[in-house]
Amino acid sequence: MDTPAPARRLTRYLGRIALIAVLLLAAFIGWRLARRDLPTAAEPLPAARPVTSSSPVAAPGDCAPPAFTAAAANNAAGIDTLAWSPFRNRPETGWRTYAPRIAAEIASDCPYDSAGFAEALSRYQAAHRLPADGRLTPETFERMRIAWDLQRPFQRAARLGCPPAPDPATLQAAAPAELYGGKPALADPGALAAYRRMAADARAAGVASDPTLLTIFSAFRDQAADAERCARQGGCGGPARAVCSAHRTGTALDLNLGHAPGARPDSTEDANRLWMSQTPLYRWLVRNAARYGFVNYAFEPWHWEWAG
Ligand SMILES: [Zn+2]
Repeated sequence: MDTPAPARRLTRYLGRIALIAVLLLAAFIGWRLARRDLPTAAEPLPAARPVTSSSPVAAPGDCAPPAFTAAAANNAAGIDTLAWSPFRNRPETGWRTYAPRIAAEIASDCPYDSAGFAEALSRYQAAHRLPADGRLTPETFERMRIAWDLQRPFQRAARLGCPPAPDPATLQAAAPAELYGGKPALADPGALAAYRRMAADARAAGVASDPTLLTIFSAFRDQAADAERCARQGGCGGPARAVCSAHRTGTALDLNLGHAPGARPDSTEDANRLWMSQTPLYRWLVRNAARYGFVNYAFEPWHWEWAG
């Protein structure tokens, strides 16, 4: 049957309209599906690299992922040479002193200059919205340092003013075998009990077989004694510290971790702090002390505060 010319034109015209409508509908459905996968502003952005394991023990081979070779080279170059001021604008060179604590924080057992360490660091960086390149930068360390400080109950309390000192009658004396050089020490009973459990386990683990290791060389210090000590040393890092030390709480313990040749166990000289931080004892403490409630002040390997 022959269709008249005007009717054929109308049919073609309606056919084109229908085709355009179908294409527009398909484009709209595709756009909606694509939008569904976009994170909204309130959703967290995915980490740059997924966390594949929560185990702190690295399997053989895990320490050399090829993607982090360049980051490892950067870390290897900086670990003993980085010029920076991680604490109170005090210039330091390199970050090896803090490497054991950083390794514990990022749960890496790989060498500090390895690609595996850099990869673990990149996971920390991604989780904390830092450039996840696996390079130990002052910015990355600063994020850790702030978090570590907030783990210290004294630091949290001191932000509201100097915490009150306990009645010395409520404190307990450490036993003679627990004292460094026989100097008496008073401490909070809870802190002392936790210290005893931690010291016993450290000795059982073989990291403190010398009986003078982990002895206490300072615990509770009253305000007058602290001011006198600071005056004798020519200052304690500023008047605020001189009049308000964590040791006034009775929960801060200075522990003998050994010392560099010729140094005292509380010498803040960089060579001494580096020496202490590389000992098996300090490396055990940064991995285990939290189980007993102890938190370290990262600048002083010997200073541990009991968080209860
Ligand atoms: Zn101390």
